[in-house]
Amino acid sequence: QAKTLGRARYEFFDVELRERMQRRLRMEQDLRDALQNEELWTAYQPVVDIESGEMVAVEALLRWKHPAHGTISPAEFIPLAEESDLINLIGKYVLRTTTREIARRREQLGIDLNLKVNLSARQLDDPHLVAGVQDALKTTGLPPHALTLEVTESALMRDQAAAAEVLTSLRDLGVSLAIDDFGTGYSSLAQLQRLPLDTLKIDRTFVTGIAESRDAAAIVKSIIAMAHAVDLIVVAEGVEDEEQLTVLRELHCDQAQGFHLGRPAPPDELFGAAG
Ligand code: C2E
Ligand code: MG
Ligand code: MG
Ligand code: MG
Repeated sequence: QAKTLGRARYEFFDVELRERMQRRLRMEQDLRDALQNEELWTAYQPVVDIESGEMVAVEALLRWKHPAHGTISPAEFIPLAEESDLINLIGKYVLRTTTREIARRREQLGIDLNLKVNLSARQLDDPHLVAGVQDALKTTGLPPHALTLEVTESALMRDQAAAAEVLTSLRDLGVSLAIDDFGTGYSSLAQLQRLPLDTLKIDRTFVTGIAESRDAAAIVKSIIAMAHAVDLIVVAEGVEDEEQLTVLRELHCDQAQGFHLGRPAPPDELFGAAG
């Protein structure tokens, strides 16, 4: 009895595993098609200067409207794309389309808006990355200082020497660089100092509790102090209410982003219909 049950269970897991792998392969093929079929689009989320309350930047956040499964989160499909060269195709597409969009909006609205684009770990390994960024800027006329590239802390810590080299080349183009999801990895101040960064984004998990917990606020306070000591602009991610914003203001955080200040939205919704 026990033996039969064991085998049945084993086969069950086998089937489940196979189904999971098949689903993954299908999704990867779907994602390749998505690029062609224009199922990918970009939402923009405001980044606000805490002192003035003004929107100083927008972060480009990729969205996938799958014909059968509906909207799929980038937290799901970006890791899938990162398993192959697909991420480089997608990354190039995001760079090209978002620089075009924001260059046009800056011109139409006459505002000095910064565009933030996420780069994945694997894009840092792409030998064509720097040329691709340069090309996007040249083609769209977006000034280099209006572009910030965000790289997660974990991506930077994977191969620090290689990361430093790519970041330096990108910086030489005149673009700004941000370390994203800060606090979720294990980097030290010394390591940070060796990278040519302009901005540090405190991960949402640290911001969540700051209005209720003095410990949480103390951690954020020390991150801000540390970042300011090495001349980084600090952005708090995931600000969901006014109380959190008040604490961040008291802690001299520079900029904030989160549902309380604006959800990621289609460009027409954020800027008004394009002329
Ligand atoms: P991220 O770069 O840290 O982006 C911030 C994420 O937090 C976004 O999730 C945003 O929608 C979400 N968020 C913003 N404010 C709040 C808030 O107040 N509360 C909560 N709960 N969440 C908030 P999203 O759009 O699902 O993106 C997830 C991640 O996917 C991004 O994290 C980024 O790492 C990655 N990603 C998105 N677009 C791209 C892209 O074009 N290229 C690459 N390589 N990665 C991307
Ligand atoms: Mg980001
Ligand atoms: Mg982030
Ligand atoms: Mg994050």
